[in-house]
Amino acid sequence: MKSKFTGALIGSAVGDALGAPVEGYSMKKVSSVYGEDWKMISGRYTDDTEMMIGVAESLIENKGFNGEDMAKRFIENYDPKRGYGPGSKEALRRLSEGESWKEASKKLFGGKGSYGNGAAMRIAPVGIFYYDDVDRLRETAYKSSHITHSNELGKEGAALQAFSIALAMQERVEKEGMLLELKEFVENEVYKEKIRKIEMFFEKEAEVDKKEVISELGSGEEAFNSVPTAIYSFIRSNSFKDAVVYAVSLGGDTDTIAAMTGAISGAYYGEEAIPKEWVERLEGGKKGKRYIRWLGEELYHIKLQLMQRDRW
Ligand SMILES: [Mg+2]
Repeated sequence: MKSKFTGALIGSAVGDALGAPVEGYSMKKVSSVYGEDWKMISGRYTDDTEMMIGVAESLIENKGFNGEDMAKRFIENYDPKRGYGPGSKEALRRLSEGESWKEASKKLFGGKGSYGNGAAMRIAPVGIFYYDDVDRLRETAYKSSHITHSNELGKEGAALQAFSIALAMQERVEKEGMLLELKEFVENEVYKEKIRKIEMFFEKEAEVDKKEVISELGSGEEAFNSVPTAIYSFIRSNSFKDAVVYAVSLGGDTDTIAAMTGAISGAYYGEEAIPKEWVERLEGGKKGKRYIRWLGEELYHIKLQLMQRDRW
């Protein structure tokens, strides 16, 4: 179980770093960069991982969700060179000027709030920490999303990603059986429809063309055009490496789709299944790979303590 906790977080960071150099590229351009060997190019992670670290730090410090503290972590960790999107930047600016975490994100995009994948990309710590408690998982996914993404579709995408990770932790169902549980879990019709499309892909006898995957599931920055793509990348593959390589190979929002695929796959296969050469290449430093592993271990230990306490 510990290896699944650390695997989800390191898996997410590895996916992010693998996808980062080709973010926004077409399928063809991605393959011209990576060719057949898929060597990690720089190992530097982006905003996806930086924000995931903030989510984990805050859950550890508070042994659960604390919106004010989580917003503070996002601001403290913020490095403008990590490629933050305009919505998150604006939300973080408002938060740093003292606006409440309950209010800051609501004013974005003409009052509609963001439905980008910026909340789903950082959700792995919530998925592993609440893997056995679906109500608190959903509640915490929604609240942690709300700090920057207040649109329902942004929150629901984060909750769906968190629940996928939770199912991968438990291996309660075989991979394709996950889809039934996911379809029951999601409340929004946009996501139900996407999951039905994934089901249809698996009903086909032949391998689904990547172009069809991109046009039906999406490869963009909207949560509903990327979370289902990550789920599909995980289910269709038989190893961590295959899943993440597939996610990046589609092009588009490669760092985030691969980060989300890596989080689900790391939770399912465990940390040992992540290719060593990728982990070695992943950046070190103060909040590098060792720190990310430590965050996973801490979440595991706190989870154990809380479970033992509940048993008494
Ligand atoms: Mg990014």
